[in-house]
Amino acid sequence: MKFGTKAIHAGVEPDPSTGAIMTPIFQTSTYVQRSPGDHKGYEYSRTHNPTRTALQNNLAALENGKHGLCFSSGLGAIDAIIKLLNPGDEVISTNDLYGGSYRIFTKVFERYGIKFHFISMEDPRTIETYITPHTKLIWAETPTNPMMNIIDIEEIGKVAKKHDILFGVDNTFATPFLQNPLDLGADIVMHSVTKYLGGHSDVVMGALVVNDDQLQEKLAFIQNACGATPGPQDCFLVLRGIKTLHLRMERHCENGAAIARFLKSHPKIDKVYWPGFEDHPNHDIAKKQMRDFGGMISFTIKRNKIEDAHTVLENLHYFSLAESLGGVESLSGHPASMTHASIPKEEREKVGLVDSLIRLSVGIEDIEDLKNDLDQALAKV
Ligand SMILES: *Cc1c(COP(=O)(O)O)cnc(C)c1O
Repeated sequence: MKFGTKAIHAGVEPDPSTGAIMTPIFQTSTYVQRSPGDHKGYEYSRTHNPTRTALQNNLAALENGKHGLCFSSGLGAIDAIIKLLNPGDEVISTNDLYGGSYRIFTKVFERYGIKFHFISMEDPRTIETYITPHTKLIWAETPTNPMMNIIDIEEIGKVAKKHDILFGVDNTFATPFLQNPLDLGADIVMHSVTKYLGGHSDVVMGALVVNDDQLQEKLAFIQNACGATPGPQDCFLVLRGIKTLHLRMERHCENGAAIARFLKSHPKIDKVYWPGFEDHPNHDIAKKQMRDFGGMISFTIKRNKIEDAHTVLENLHYFSLAESLGGVESLSGHPASMTHASIPKEEREKVGLVDSLIRLSVGIEDIEDLKNDLDQALAKV
């Protein structure tokens, strides 16, 4: 099955009792047993729910994986991965990563005796200098957020394999439409389903996809034991959203490319971060591991003043100023004070995340309206 066909059909069967073509919302907490232990595979909805099962199977198919697991948020999914570890274990993570991931690593799991190293992974060889006998997980995000660096998943996969270390990739920005980390050597793919997979800014959810049966068992145990599972209504909405993932992504990429080029030629703009540019430092890796370049773009304004960033953000109409990304509507954000506020300023600036940086999630509106919107807001600085 090709991608668009999988998005619509994988994991989804007409309901056997009625023929309903859409997976029903199984709004139930429990399931009747004929005799103790004699049931139809469903006992309690924290453990299993048929709407969630359909979604988990669909997500697994999209990532070319064997098993999917859904969580009540992206951070709930990351939480489950770190709970595979023990006190004393060490994690090597991308340094330019989602602020909430940085927060759960440093503010929650460091207290439980897990040590995190945040490093640039643009040269995968540097990872080896941080590996100790205690290293149990390599955690990568690519494209990185918000600097849009690209990390070579296949090369890191080789390092992880060589040292027998679990390798997880946050694939939220790229989506399975653009990139499949399991095919490139990752052990776990993680998604904030909240973003492109849901696609309509109406659900918060997370997911993991793995191939290994034992890893699936351990994660499913944590999923059930810790209980961060999504409800069936949300699973239904995401199943519905995914049916147009391929169409939405095509337009996100097309609009993203047009906006990136528009900004690059704009006299008030300093830098534009988008992996589709030939002069992007990791453009070749992006071309190798991604099918297109996505709809996420960051840029800085020439005067590099926080006031100018505020002026632009206050005057945009279609790029609503809001946290999150990946919905059909365009969004704008100010990472230094929003998504990345939990990362100390010195840490932020080390990776180029300056106060004037604006991040765009380019939606699927008509491109002329989006360009005009940016143009009029930039005219005010
Ligand atoms: C949003 C996001 C998360 C966290 O997901 P939630 O669904 O908000 O918990 C993790 N990683 C990335 C890259 C994200 O954009």
